[in-house]
Amino acid sequence: RHSKAIGAPEIPSVRWQDVGGLQQVKKDILDTIQLPLERPELLSAGLRRSGLLLYGPPGTGKTLLAKAVATECSMTFLSVKGPELINMYVGQSEENIREVFRKARVAAPCIIFFDELDSLAPNRGRSGDSGGVMDRVVSQLLAELDGLHSSGDVFVIGATNRPDLLDQSLLRPGRFDRLVYVGIGEDRESQLQILRAIVRKFKVEPGVSLSEIVDRCPLHLTGADLYALCSDAMTSAVKRKILLISEGLDSEDSELTLCAEDFSYALDI
Ligand code: ATP
Repeated sequence: RHSKAIGAPEIPSVRWQDVGGLQQVKKDILDTIQLPLERPELLSAGLRRSGLLLYGPPGTGKTLLAKAVATECSMTFLSVKGPELINMYVGQSEENIREVFRKARVAAPCIIFFDELDSLAPNRGRSGDSGGVMDRVVSQLLAELDGLHSSGDVFVIGATNRPDLLDQSLLRPGRFDRLVYVGIGEDRESQLQILRAIVRKFKVEPGVSLSEIVDRCPLHLTGADLYALCSDAMTSAVKRKILLISEGLDSEDSELTLCAEDFSYALDI
């Protein structure tokens, strides 16, 4: 039986430039993954292979970072959400976990990204189902993680908003033992870097000042919030264009560009 929850590994198309800010985080991730991948002989010389745990508030770029490192290292990427692997049929959840690692080995070099890891491996003391399904899921996950040592080219990255809820055995050496905090840009400069990375996907009129936009944003916006801001600006641009077309002042095939007005609209809603 194969679970529909598990997709096929694929090479993502997120580049480093698509991830704004987070300089130190990017460096930590590359060091952890790229080094053993490019110099596997270091592993037999004592370099430890680590799994990464990205933790921090939602919308700060954890998924984006994991995809970018896969792209940059030419690895395939297999993304699984914790809750999707849990199945009510006896033994199926453990089988799903085995299947994830099997698929990753076939598609190696591969990064397995476990989103919402806390729901897959909650603290066993807390879940109160000793010997129950979650207990067996955690055991299976640990067995698979420990089995990765022999193969140099499957890496795991976990993501969670609540590292405190995780079963602590997951954090032992060789498992998810590199903890990296992915936070909200604390200052205008990091927000500007994130906005710059995001607008690469949009056409923005040359006169638009991104730093002015950031200055008008509430502090502590996440990357996901800044992306939403650009989408709202896009809505405004579409409306503007429809109006101009109806007045005969624009045509369908002209390019849709975001102007300062569109960002003002987005900031006001
Ligand atoms: P969650 O915990 O909710 O899964 P997450 O930390 O994994 O959140 P992402 O899914 O990576 O967050 O981010 C959501 C979207 O927000 C991204 O697809 C991207 O458009 C934008 N985004 C977030 N952070 C950044 C960033 N640092 N640079 C550029 N875009 C970002």
